[in-house]
Amino acid sequence: MKPVVALVGRPNVGKSTLFNRMTRSRDAIVDDMAGVTRDRHFGEAMWEGRPFVLVDTGGFLSNDADSFAAHIRAQVEMALEDADHVVLVLDGKSGVSYYDRDLVDLLRAKGKPFFCIVNKIDGERHEIALTDFYALGIEEPFPVSAEHGYGFSDFMDALTEDMPLEDEGNDGQPEGPIRVAVVGRPNAGKSSLINRLLGEERMVVSEVAGTTRDSVDSLVEYGGKTYLFVDTAGIRRKGKVTHRVEKYSVIKALQSLERCDVALVLLDASEGVTDQDVRVAGYASDRGCGCIFVCNKWDLMPPEKKDVKRMKEELAMEAKFLGYAPVLTISALTGQRVIKLFPMIDKVYEQYISRVGTSHLNRIIEDATARTEPSLHNGKRIKFYFASQVRTSPPTFALVTNYPDAIHFSYKRYLVNQIREALGLDMTPIRIKFQERS
Ligand code: GDP
Ligand code: GDP
Repeated sequence: MKPVVALVGRPNVGKSTLFNRMTRSRDAIVDDMAGVTRDRHFGEAMWEGRPFVLVDTGGFLSNDADSFAAHIRAQVEMALEDADHVVLVLDGKSGVSYYDRDLVDLLRAKGKPFFCIVNKIDGERHEIALTDFYALGIEEPFPVSAEHGYGFSDFMDALTEDMPLEDEGNDGQPEGPIRVAVVGRPNAGKSSLINRLLGEERMVVSEVAGTTRDSVDSLVEYGGKTYLFVDTAGIRRKGKVTHRVEKYSVIKALQSLERCDVALVLLDASEGVTDQDVRVAGYASDRGCGCIFVCNKWDLMPPEKKDVKRMKEELAMEAKFLGYAPVLTISALTGQRVIKLFPMIDKVYEQYISRVGTSHLNRIIEDATARTEPSLHNGKRIKFYFASQVRTSPPTFALVTNYPDAIHFSYKRYLVNQIREALGLDMTPIRIKFQERS
């Protein structure tokens, strides 16, 4: 059953604009059936693999209802009856109106939690308009521009956070849990995250003995899959960190990296990317496991710094070598987006264990070398004779060539990027080895 989301709000606040934006990604897929978008008040939406049904309650009612108050009341009744989530849309341009107050009071009286959007916040500098709305006693209004998209993804993240993922059927994954390590400098929030994950009620958790002495792993079942969080005991047990135990925790980190398929590289977003973070990321990169940058303590970020794009740019600059690692902003404290880790782990893992057929791979290499030839080596051409994938986890390719030692690192990087692009492997490390023709 897909959750139902209802939009409520007085006319002209931008409900149908928002409706269109929310259903747009889906429309691209079901365009034939969509008909005239403008007149629909009921549609399918999907955000990061979480499908839901969207209802614009305002659109169901005629604007010449007996009275405005009756109109609003009917909207709310409808929303509360059918919807799992209610989204109140307010107009950040025209400010708070009497009717907004009425709507808020009505929703409150029903005792059902609701999301609140202040629309027409077309950019950061419009956020000043939010202050008016605090007077309504709403704790966390989402500033959004339905028309331009500002603030939209933050709102959608929050809205869909607890929604179930789409059933995907069997995707042919190998048996056995995905092994996940949580690493990061002291105080990044590792134990908070582990405790939060293991404490989630929707998860079935059991402890199993790890492979090293007195290490304990935790098996977590989520969305029909099993994940093994390695070396959780050490992380949970740890209290306050001092410099003395820090050395120890680096070893722990290295051990768990050794045992994992995917590493969550945790950092304290409120402190920015520090040298120590880069070092930990370096360990993960060396290990060659799948990696996800998890920017924790997002709740501490002041609004003007709550900018995922900027965070990504900072990471791309400071930790270039992990350019393939996706970035997720979370709060282990409030639980915000923590659940999103699972689909992201799945994606990274899928690429990490992927395989490509030899003929396909050889075509990719042929095309790539035809497009851009390696530079000459002592006046002689460097040739590639044959390519094959020699292992997965991470995908590793062997290229047979006449001058394995003469290939410039920039050309190697070019080949890696060509393989990434051709195979859609944007989130996993990839390795290439050059072998001399025997
Ligand atoms: P509804 O009556 O609540 O469905 O509102 P509409 O979606 O029809 O929008 C009402 C008006 O507000 C239209 O002229 C929209 O172009 C405008 N509007 C909607 N969203 C935004 C926005 O994010 N920013 C600005 N500046 N205008 C918007
Ligand atoms: P570890 O050393 O990496 O295991 O970090 P901890 O989990 O012990 O967290 C260090 C400190 O940061 C503790 O005081 C936590 O309460 C705090 N903390 C962890 N996660 C968050 C978060 O998401 N938001 C905030 N505000 N504090 C956090």
